[in-house]
Amino acid sequence: MMIEYENLFLLNQQFMEGYKESFSDSLDKGWFVLGDKVSTFETEFAAYCGGKYCAGLASGLDALVLALKYFDFPEGSEVIVPSNTYIATILAIYNNGLVPVLVEPDIHTYNIDPLKIEAAVTSKTKAVMVVHLYGKSCDMAAVMQIADLNGLRVIEDCAQAHGASFRGKKTGTFGDFGAFSFYPTKNLGALGDGGALIASEPGMIAKIKAMRNYGCHEKYYNNYIGVNSRLDEIQAGFLSLKLEFLDQINAHKQKLAKLYQEGLKDDFIKPVIHPDYEDVYHIYTVRHRERDRLRDYLLKNNIKTEIHYPVPPHHQQALKTRLKGAYPISEAIHQTTLSLPVSYCHTPMQIARVIDVMNAF
Ligand SMILES: *Cc1c(COP(=O)(O)O)cnc(C)c1O
Repeated sequence: MMIEYENLFLLNQQFMEGYKESFSDSLDKGWFVLGDKVSTFETEFAAYCGGKYCAGLASGLDALVLALKYFDFPEGSEVIVPSNTYIATILAIYNNGLVPVLVEPDIHTYNIDPLKIEAAVTSKTKAVMVVHLYGKSCDMAAVMQIADLNGLRVIEDCAQAHGASFRGKKTGTFGDFGAFSFYPTKNLGALGDGGALIASEPGMIAKIKAMRNYGCHEKYYNNYIGVNSRLDEIQAGFLSLKLEFLDQINAHKQKLAKLYQEGLKDDFIKPVIHPDYEDVYHIYTVRHRERDRLRDYLLKNNIKTEIHYPVPPHHQQALKTRLKGAYPISEAIHQTTLSLPVSYCHTPMQIARVIDVMNAF
């Protein structure tokens, strides 16, 4: 039997009855955009994160775009971002007419190296967008200290880190904004696209709520050059249901990750663990010199894996003429990283089989 990397049917099976009830409730009400379900979810998600206010949006990318748009930085301002992030973080910067400045990650945590942030600051730097990659928080004590010293805004890309924390404080609550995606495969996934911003200042979220809705606080009176980026009622209803199980989903992934951590032989470079960080393993990666051969070998043994990510941002067709620096750490990660099955729908027995097959490589 094939062990899949992910299976969205199985992942959602447990919630299906609830989804159907919530969907028919929306049909009966005949209310689909910006209603009770969105505001209820916003309140619940803000409470879950320990942030105070939340705006539901159409996607994780939009959350990043709107967080930057909120500050209205002068065109050409620089925004620091990790060189090994998913492309969306960098696209959000370009989509605001700003300039991404790529900073290399730490080779052990795969997250932005705080020491290198300071070296990248210039008179044009306005913000740093940190990414809690694979479900591990960045070192937010160091990031916030450097940001404060240099007068930088901090936006946290939490698309892979719902519920992850650093020294007991959840990701998304350190910086000015925490940006989330509810893409179906994320730890908190909808049945379609969705996203959110959280912040601790009510005025900031009030402005984001206006910006997501053509820039108006009051219908037909437009204060800002806004966009249309609303989380819809049906997705918000699904997300409220699933949010109740997010800790359980994360705990399951943590349990599977622990099996890998203890069972895999040391030929594989495993994620680092440290008591300051509670990781939620959106993705469980190992690194290996012969990554491609390992991946083929696993597939021959009926185990599917993924690569996050095969091509670093500075080598992407769309960006390679714009991003000219050398990013050897990012390249080393992209060449050696392999993501193993670690989903809510996997059983410990399946993981035990992956471990056995891996250890025979
Ligand atoms: C998924 C993801 C995004 C984008 O989220 P969408 O909802 O797909 O737009 C942004 N950043 C990171 C790190 C992601 O993993």
